Amino acid sequence: MSSLGIYRCIDDMRAQVAAWKAEGLRVGLVPTMGALHAGHLSLVEAISQNVDKVIVSIFVNPAQFAAHEDLSTYPRQEAADLAALETTQTDAVFAPTAQEMYPDGFATAIAMDGPALGLESEERPHFFGGVALIVLKLLTQTQTDVAIFGEKDYQQLMVIRRMVADLNLPVEIMAGEIMREADGLAMSSRNVYLNAEQRKIAAQLHVILGQLANHPAGADIIKAEAEAKQALLEAGFTKVDYACIRDAETLGVPNANTRARRALIVARLGDTRLLDNRPAS
Ligand code: AMP
Repeated sequence: MSSLGIYRCIDDMRAQVAAWKAEGLRVGLVPTMGALHAGHLSLVEAISQNVDKVIVSIFVNPAQFAAHEDLSTYPRQEAADLAALETTQTDAVFAPTAQEMYPDGFATAIAMDGPALGLESEERPHFFGGVALIVLKLLTQTQTDVAIFGEKDYQQLMVIRRMVADLNLPVEIMAGEIMREADGLAMSSRNVYLNAEQRKIAAQLHVILGQLANHPAGADIIKAEAEAKQALLEAGFTKVDYACIRDAETLGVPNANTRARRALIVARLGDTRLLDNRPAS
């Protein structure tokens, strides 16, 4: 029998958080879409250092998938996810139904500029509206003190920080570092889509990202980006959505006000999009 509390209803989840807070406990949320791997579990570990009670949400959010994307085939494995969470500091799982989250008549959307512009939005214009909406809903539903997001989805992390600041949400946002396979490939629920040959090519993403991130200071960024793109295609990636260096905060093109830079790549192997990023020189 699971010792984890599993909550399907918003009211029950919120009542549990309120009870914890009434005891003076600090509560943290780890939002996920399930198909959990060691990257997700590292977020549980990281947030547990900072809170007394940890909630992991599992919800495959229809609002962030376009019609042609993998909503229906996105890996779903709740029993395995719960077994994995049993081994962690997780206290509760919030796994609502789509009907609970988006009841009939749902009519609200969020639009964002700033860090939501460009990069992922070029290919997936619907994406950050859907992400911002579900994260805002999860934060207001659970009312946790802290929530953690992985640097793996770096633009998403910046979008959420911006939204939380803009809407004055009373929650602290933590960032979790990227967990990788032994060969450097960033862990992702979508890595299961890769066949053996693609999996070998995928390891090159991390290598080429390192070259892009470490390009000599003062070197021509556009040239470094073009070289990274070429290297990815030569390694066997079928398409490069972007390979670029951006201002680490605004995600705009670096300028005189840029304090830190970030290298970001998204490349495809067949239908699978692989994301990775790291600090750049
Ligand atoms: P997802 O289930 O893919 O929506 O991811 C849920 C959370 O886990 C997000 O905050 C991701 O950034 C984070 N995450 C995904 N992959 C990794 C990874 N390899 N290392 C650390 N965090 C990750």
